[in-house]
Amino acid sequence: MTDHDREPQAIRAEALESLLIEKGLLTADAIDEVIVRYSERVGPMNGARVVARAWIDPDFKQRLLEDGTSAINEFSFEGGRIEKLVVVENTEKVHNAVVCTLCSCYPWAVLGLPPRWYKDPQYRSRIVREPRTVLKEMGLDLPADLEIRIWDSSAEVRYMVLPQQPEHSLGKSEQELAQLVTRNSMVGVESL
Ligand code: FE
Repeated sequence: MTDHDREPQAIRAEALESLLIEKGLLTADAIDEVIVRYSERVGPMNGARVVARAWIDPDFKQRLLEDGTSAINEFSFEGGRIEKLVVVENTEKVHNAVVCTLCSCYPWAVLGLPPRWYKDPQYRSRIVREPRTVLKEMGLDLPADLEIRIWDSSAEVRYMVLPQQPEHSLGKSEQELAQLVTRNSMVGVESL
């Protein structure tokens, strides 16, 4: 682990967690539930709502691609400050994926907690050197003629992928569409 993976807050949080469990005030299951909620639902659901709106509202999509930070401020997401957010669009010709090669910078405000693999040194180094192979290992087998672009997040700029809307979802409501959008599709390691 490197730099901000092990911030003092993280160490404090772990210490508190151990203490609360030891005192019987909290169970590990309850903690896991909170983590799952933030990592699988609340966080990514913010991003999913953004994606769904971009799919049905071309003006919003244009604002989102031009200035992700201010477009996302049109939503009133609670918690998680919005860093400078750049949204990159997947198309017929280009597939985008996101990494932080240095550590684990991630757009928390829209995607919640980063998945474990995102912080893995293997993912961080290999996705840049051999993106097609890594994506295939993760279950995304992209056509050879599809250009792959990898975006390296930092403390200053975070990236989110706008996935392509699946054909079968045309005509669905914004809420229904948001349900289809997965966290991994917004990191660019999955297609919908
Ligand atoms: Fe980082």
